[in-house]
Amino acid sequence: MSTPTLMDYDEALARFEPVLGIETHIELGTASKMFCGCPTGFGAEPNTQVCPVCLGLPGSLPVTNRAAIEGIIKIGLALNCEIVEWCRFARKNYFYPDMPKNFQISQYDEPLCVDGHLDVEVDGDTYRIEIERVHMEEDTGKSLHVGGATGRIHGAEYSLVDYNRAGIPLVEIVTKPIVATGDKAPLVARAYATELRELVRSLGVSDVRMEQGSMRCDVNVSLMPRGASEWGTRSETKNVNSLRSVERAVRSEIERQAGVLSAGGRVVQETRHFHEDTGRTTSGRSKEEAQDYRYFPEPDLVPMAPSREWVDELRASLPELPAARRRRIQREWKLSDLELRDVVNAGAVDLIEATVARGADAGAARKWWMNELSRRATEQGVELADLPITPEQVARVQAMITAGELNDKLARKVFEGVLAGEGGPDEVVAARGLKVVSDEGELASVVDQVIADNAAVADKVRAGKVAAAGALVGAVMKATRGQADAGRARELILEKLGAS
Ligand SMILES: [Zn+2]
Repeated sequence: MSTPTLMDYDEALARFEPVLGIETHIELGTASKMFCGCPTGFGAEPNTQVCPVCLGLPGSLPVTNRAAIEGIIKIGLALNCEIVEWCRFARKNYFYPDMPKNFQISQYDEPLCVDGHLDVEVDGDTYRIEIERVHMEEDTGKSLHVGGATGRIHGAEYSLVDYNRAGIPLVEIVTKPIVATGDKAPLVARAYATELRELVRSLGVSDVRMEQGSMRCDVNVSLMPRGASEWGTRSETKNVNSLRSVERAVRSEIERQAGVLSAGGRVVQETRHFHEDTGRTTSGRSKEEAQDYRYFPEPDLVPMAPSREWVDELRASLPELPAARRRRIQREWKLSDLELRDVVNAGAVDLIEATVARGADAGAARKWWMNELSRRATEQGVELADLPITPEQVARVQAMITAGELNDKLARKVFEGVLAGEGGPDEVVAARGLKVVSDEGELASVVDQVIADNAAVADKVRAGKVAAAGALVGAVMKATRGQADAGRARELILEKLGAS
């Protein structure tokens, strides 16, 4: 197959309007699987968390996990969905080695949650993403292809399969077509995935770790010529597993499809794979139609009919959701829109909030996390939250500053020590001898010495050239290895030279 010519992104957007759809799978963090009692922990030895039910052995019968249904209802409510009064599971029949039963218990035409929305913000504009449905299903196992260069089945010598994941509760969230995003389409897709992840995380029902596969996005993209009213054929890029890749996959598909269409070709309805290394998608299998799955109501399970009382109870139990929390934080911390966006993008909201909860004022907490500590995280190539320092430790450093025991310069040395694994702030201060010289007598004698050593400068200050005092303050700071209170040193110098 020849490689299609890609069209330049701006040109593609000038000629075509993208239409997106995003299907997101989220593994719930329940203790046991969807229809059996097997544990769900990540990373266990292969095939140690399985039983007759999740292996689909003859005669085994599934039982619905109530905690999983609670989890999906919470997600539905947080997405402003209607929770239906009655619905059923359906069997989705297909043969794939990572699915031991040869069917997946899912939901088809009777999903549990319908008609919701989630607002996301891109460059100061709000986009309302309409949610078509949120339904419950079970995850498949995992295949491991051994011996090839790419880890894919092509070129592999043999394949292994691990059923530990088979039967883990999986929620699928399907958007309605996302239109009128223009050249912002890739950013809107990313913002949606980001906001959805934050929302689900705030509910505490999943750890939503994209790198571990507990949240994965399938991204549908189609193009229609500007001014046309009929949508084009869409491709579906499967299992995109980072926020950045969601954005890149949309962009890549826009460039590819525009190239195909403007060369007179047709976009094929198919699933595609996204490659992190090239930032491009390649063709997978042609997309099955719903009828290929021969759906029918799952005969081994009773219908779900969540009572209105239960739904109301769950609604009342929802925590503060991310959008409301951001509004509150902006108000309480007195942030501009841009400052708020920076704090959110830096992943610093939780850290600053936890630092404030331990006594630091918001301005100081934000200053340390957003400047000094962000810089060090960038240097080390890690997320801010992964730095080996806790909000409690940052609050402690700030408390020492407020008490006059440290200045900002010394505080930076304390952070350096904590990050280097030298212990908590108090231990670093003690081990490195970092306290501000607050003993007046000691400071005064240093000042006297500095004046004696710099007689010419001292004369200038005496003669009224107060600006020259800066050199003397510098000398005091040097003599005390930065541990003097510079303001107090300056006062003493001017006092002693009769210039105050
Ligand atoms: Zn099991």
